[in-house]
Amino acid sequence: MMYEQRSGAPLPPEGHVLIVGAGLAGYHTARGVRANGHTGPITIFGEENRPAYDRPALSKAYLTGAAAEEDLLLDDPEDPLDVTWVSGVGVVRLSGSADGTEPLGVHTHDGAFHPGDAVVITTGAYAMSLPAASSEEGLGARPYVLRNMEDALALRDTTLEGLDVAVVGGGFLALEAAATCTERGAGSVTVAAGEEHPGARRLGRPVGEAIRAAHEAHGVRFASASRAQAVRSCHRGHEVILADGETITADIVICAIGARPRTEWLLGSEVTLTSDTGAVACDDTGATAVPGVYAAGDCAQWASHSSGLRPVGHWQEAVEEAAVVAAALTGADPVPLQEPYFWSDQFDLRIQGAGRIHLANEVTVAEGSPAEGNLLVHYARDGQNVGILGINRLKDVTRWRKQRRIRRTPASAAVHAAENAPFSA
Ligand SMILES: Cc1cc2nc3c(=O)[nH]c(=O)nc-3n(C[C@H](O)[C@H](O)[C@H](O)COP(=O)(O)OP(=O)(O)OC[C@H]3O[C@@H](n4cnc5c(N)ncnc54)[C@H](O)[C@@H]3O)c2cc1C
Repeated sequence: MMYEQRSGAPLPPEGHVLIVGAGLAGYHTARGVRANGHTGPITIFGEENRPAYDRPALSKAYLTGAAAEEDLLLDDPEDPLDVTWVSGVGVVRLSGSADGTEPLGVHTHDGAFHPGDAVVITTGAYAMSLPAASSEEGLGARPYVLRNMEDALALRDTTLEGLDVAVVGGGFLALEAAATCTERGAGSVTVAAGEEHPGARRLGRPVGEAIRAAHEAHGVRFASASRAQAVRSCHRGHEVILADGETITADIVICAIGARPRTEWLLGSEVTLTSDTGAVACDDTGATAVPGVYAAGDCAQWASHSSGLRPVGHWQEAVEEAAVVAAALTGADPVPLQEPYFWSDQFDLRIQGAGRIHLANEVTVAEGSPAEGNLLVHYARDGQNVGILGINRLKDVTRWRKQRRIRRTPASAAVHAAENAPFSA
């Protein structure tokens, strides 16, 4: 696929910025645009009828009740964003064309057209779920998912004490949900992770072993490594059906099997969607195929010359991309993208990963052991270090990230400019 640097001239000072999606990337884009001195209007459209909030706590402190809704709010009441919030309003169509013949703007579900000088797409993702299989008890099996505040509220308001919980998925979200349900007194928690050691395929066996050991120490059970295929109702509640025929019977099922970019409203527009996930295809300034239209966060697939395809679905990535888009919009100095970074909290484990772990062909345990709940893992490709993962190793991961930080010195700015030249991916 050919990715070209597509960003055009910065906005005029009174240019109107339309941001579609009042989540993490949308909020930080607006903050960055204002911080860079833009004085024109900014409108943020949000489909949810509530103030913009941050999501990581939805599977952690918010789900246990340790954090309240106001703790998750993104805007700072002491220093509120100077923007127009349009809440409870979904955007249904993008207007704009590569040749400039269609006016730039967005259509909302109430039929209104909102013209703008730039549009930033930050519509995030949908939670994916298992298909419902038919049963004598009928369909009706609807697993819980965790993507937005409504999802988390539904699970938070369910009494879990003594209930059997099945969690489908082997990613961090699933494992955080398993840990939280255990902490909330569920009778049993069984995880269908689709692999023997959750995370081993992506992060290496030692990490998978450490995660499994920590969960088992708290009583979490793991089903066979076979993938879950469907969920159905049964006389006891629900049954998760695995590919090898094993079934897990549970009172409630939580499905955390991944996310799909929320881009269906862009079908028919001139913005390019990737053929595999349907994310908005962007260069490494967030520019799309339509001049004046940018995308950032979980709905976007950025291609960076320095690190190839950027990861999708991580908090840090959404915040960094927002800063880059804000710079491109306002003509501020380009903000270099840092090494990818993610974290997860499960029981007393803080797992942090940085770098391009997906490129690694060697995984080495540098310190600790999976059984200890304290592990430092290095990732290399053909002998070159490409990433690090720490379990309860805050200092080591912080040091690695600091050493890898791309500094905004003139020399690195020149390197960055060279890296941003058009390339094929
Ligand atoms: C439960 C949970 C826990 C997480 N924990 C971690 C973690 O521990 N570590 C980590 O690195 N990352 C974590 N993440 C990932 C991180 O939160 C996301 O990467 C980040 O929220 C992405 O930001 P975003 O702005 O792209 O999307 P979102 O924050 O999802 O915001 C998108 C917004 O757009 C709105 N929207 C969608 N379509 C439209 C439309 N057509 N019109 C108007 N508005 C629309 C949505 O309602 C939503 O409010 C977690 C995510 C979830 C869901």
